[in-house]
Amino acid sequence: MNFKSIFLLLFVCLTAFFIQSSCVNKPVSDKERLTGQFNYKTDPDFIKLPLAYSTKEIYLRKTVFEKFKAMADSAAKAGVTLKALSGTRSYSEQKNIWDNKWNNYFKNGDSIACMKKILLYSSMPSTSRHHWGTDIDINSLEPSYFATGKGLKEYTWLVNNAHKFGFCQVYDDMKKTGRTGYQEEKWHWSYLPESTKFLNEYHAKISYADIKGFKGSNLASKINFIPSFVDGISKKCK
Ligand SMILES: [Zn+2]
Repeated sequence: MNFKSIFLLLFVCLTAFFIQSSCVNKPVSDKERLTGQFNYKTDPDFIKLPLAYSTKEIYLRKTVFEKFKAMADSAAKAGVTLKALSGTRSYSEQKNIWDNKWNNYFKNGDSIACMKKILLYSSMPSTSRHHWGTDIDINSLEPSYFATGKGLKEYTWLVNNAHKFGFCQVYDDMKKTGRTGYQEEKWHWSYLPESTKFLNEYHAKISYADIKGFKGSNLASKINFIPSFVDGISKKCK
């Protein structure tokens, strides 16, 4: 190998090293972490759930999964199966949900009416608690599922036991509690020891200027989105 080849090889190796370190090891800023704009699948704080605890490829924070696992194992002893349907979601995954619903609901040029319909159950990209890796949707996304039989047994177990593991139903029955924001979600449980820290950080670091990049994002402040929806959680979970 002559001097020129060695120099060329060295150049290629160094270039590969810098590309790799800038792509893989790029530190995630607080704003990116809070708004889902990072790759949770390669983040060392996250873990892919074993299929015994999930229905598809789902990731959560490792600390959150440990507690979810303990809760699901405890539920199993009482004859109740708890499986995650959804865990961490990125900004772009949330934007896909938003865009699909926008295309279905947008009529007569009325952006506000469209947004209100989406916001019954789905959040704006960059505002979802699912960005944080602290929140889980469990067993079904149908309100009626939890009203009778197996679903009611599962929900009753969660209401009586989830708090022992740190989990709380953030979107409770607003007709009874006076909460604002999303409709009741009996499937959505948040691991409070972690999510409370994220909510506090969200308030400290994120403003309406950071909620951007999708249809209707310019109207977030007009509908008072942050106090009504980001803060629209059960008093029991605060
Ligand atoms: Zn959810």
